[in-house]
Amino acid sequence: MSGMLTRTLSQLHGRCGAYLTTNFGGTGGVCVVTLHPLPNGSIATDVVSGIERAMSMDRISRRVGAIAPSATLAVTTKAKAMKAAGENVIGFGAGEPDFATPDYVVEAAVEACRDPRNHKYSAVGGLPELKNAIVAKSMRDSGLEVDPANLIVTNGGKHAVYNCLQALLNPGDEVLLPSPYWTTYPEPVALAGATSVVLPTDAASGFRVTVDQLEAARTPHTKALIFVSPSNPTGAVYPRDEIEAIGRWAVEHGVWVVTDEIYEHLVYGDSVHHSMPVLVPELADRCVVLNGVAKTYAMTGWRVGWMIGPNDVVKAASNLQSHSTSNVNNIAQVAAAAALDGPLDAVAQMRSAFDRRRRIMHRMLNEISGVVCPETQGAFYAFPSFEAVVGREIAGRSVSSTVELATVILDEAKVAIVPGEAFGAPGYARLSFALGDDDLVDGVGRMADLLGRS
Ligand code: PMP
Repeated sequence: MSGMLTRTLSQLHGRCGAYLTTNFGGTGGVCVVTLHPLPNGSIATDVVSGIERAMSMDRISRRVGAIAPSATLAVTTKAKAMKAAGENVIGFGAGEPDFATPDYVVEAAVEACRDPRNHKYSAVGGLPELKNAIVAKSMRDSGLEVDPANLIVTNGGKHAVYNCLQALLNPGDEVLLPSPYWTTYPEPVALAGATSVVLPTDAASGFRVTVDQLEAARTPHTKALIFVSPSNPTGAVYPRDEIEAIGRWAVEHGVWVVTDEIYEHLVYGDSVHHSMPVLVPELADRCVVLNGVAKTYAMTGWRVGWMIGPNDVVKAASNLQSHSTSNVNNIAQVAAAAALDGPLDAVAQMRSAFDRRRRIMHRMLNEISGVVCPETQGAFYAFPSFEAVVGREIAGRSVSSTVELATVILDEAKVAIVPGEAFGAPGYARLSFALGDDDLVDGVGRMADLLGRS
């Protein structure tokens, strides 16, 4: 094997600068790598990791070996490592509120720790008090009537995405995925053997997919649409009539809708969140609603989410969960129930801070030469275009993609942003404004110093 590796590396040296698709040593692993010649003659690390990835194919299953690491977490990790090494890094990567979980939620958890009932296994699908709280919250916040039998509690919203797609998809199914998309969606689609059919949207269309686009992409294999409003990464919020139109189109063609409502309370200005199955009740039999406490109650680390859907899908997901994670941590479930049963004051405070920051961000980003940033309508992300910046030379380094731009900005300005490639949107970048106002101003100011002001 090592002889083969040496041979392969020398072949790669001769092909530097090209894209290569190859099959390494009969492992059956096909690897697509970008080759970068380095001034010292060595091979760029992404080539080596490409080879390592292909060679590990007989050790790691192809299914899991094909999963890309989360790009958003990668940026955050790199920024944290630089901070730990003493560098003054400002991170716009994090997808989590910079606020503490409300006290009354923490107190409920402390009490729950002392209750021996919570020291034991509990029902796979969730504690009855949390399920009841989700039922009440769904009616209060979006007018959605839910039977507790039609929901399960999961280990965060991410786990709800995974469970739901595993329960719904067969190999060969196609899933309509508007881009820019949250970086996590395509991976569980692929793990289920299904294919993501990416439907590009852009700033001109408000980053919202249209029924015409959906219809043009529909085939006999189309099983589902993944819909998210407010959106990560663009912050787009769909207006009522567009949600209705998409819901009715889905009903007409028997397409499932997986609707992710995790940012429902983070909308600004005139934007209003609407739940698709409330606007289009006929969709209920082919609709799964995903949600969680992470963003609304600043509870990212507690890991509580849920999925609401038709009974057969929820049962299937529960069976899957019974063999993977079993019940979600009881303490976290009690805390989540306290959060949902409590007031929405904490999220109102966060919303007003985010609202202030999104305006600052919008103004300051648009002042940077070559950057165009629409005003965020929801969630806590700015999603500016850097298309006019790509192609320039910055700090003596040529920048040919937003991945390279993000690296240059991190190295030179010590500012971490997530390149649009992570969301299927090269040319853009995501900047979370879930950080303090001073850091935000400092960070965008450093980018302006590096890239120039318009
Ligand atoms: N959906 C979207 C659109 C998200 O952005 C996130 C978090 N980044 C989640 C779901 C999952 O959140 P969690 O797993 O922390 O509950």
